[in-house]
Amino acid sequence: MSSFSLVLATRNPHKVAEVRAILSVLDLDIRELPDQCSPVDETGATLEANALLKARAAFECSGLPSVADDTGLEVYYLLGEPGVRSARYAGENATYDDNVRKLLWAMRGVPERRRYARFRTVVAYVDDRQEITLEGKVEGKILEQPRGVNGFGYDPVFRPVGSSKSYAEMSEDEKNSVSHRAAALRKLMDFLRTMI
Ligand code: IMP
Repeated sequence: MSSFSLVLATRNPHKVAEVRAILSVLDLDIRELPDQCSPVDETGATLEANALLKARAAFECSGLPSVADDTGLEVYYLLGEPGVRSARYAGENATYDDNVRKLLWAMRGVPERRRYARFRTVVAYVDDRQEITLEGKVEGKILEQPRGVNGFGYDPVFRPVGSSKSYAEMSEDEKNSVSHRAAALRKLMDFLRTMI
């Protein structure tokens, strides 16, 4: 058993699995958020602020080095929207479909050359000596119609530059090898290597 424990400030089992897979090459004891720690509200104005809020709260509650992430879809034509509000773009209780529909409506009639967007994930790491944030980005385009059935969120309407497939047309492994979250987690891996 590794002596370096890391708490993931999430109760989302998919995120836990993805982080475990990417960090599996390191000798780490990766733990889920302990039951007594309640998740914090994402009240920050930026992805960085939200990731730090969550990682700090997890560190303060668990006393162990903690990691949290926050992701947003930033559409250039919409001046960065939905960004930090990606989960609640179409309202507080919006479903993924509601958000995609609102995005396609906002982008109706916008020509191909103005449909660029990027997914950005910020990962925050907090322990008793430091707080840092790391970023992973993927540039792409917003499609005019949803394509594919895999994944979640805005996957059916986002096609990375250089790919012929939307995220939702990729297998889980394919998406994980190119995704914004994977890019941020690889930076976290490089950072953690210097710590353990
Ligand atoms: P979170 O910070 O990971 O919870 O992401 C916030 C919101 O961004 C989610 O509710 C999704 O709508 C969207 N999102 C995050 N990651 C992805 C992704 O990989 N594909 C599509 N949508 C995503």
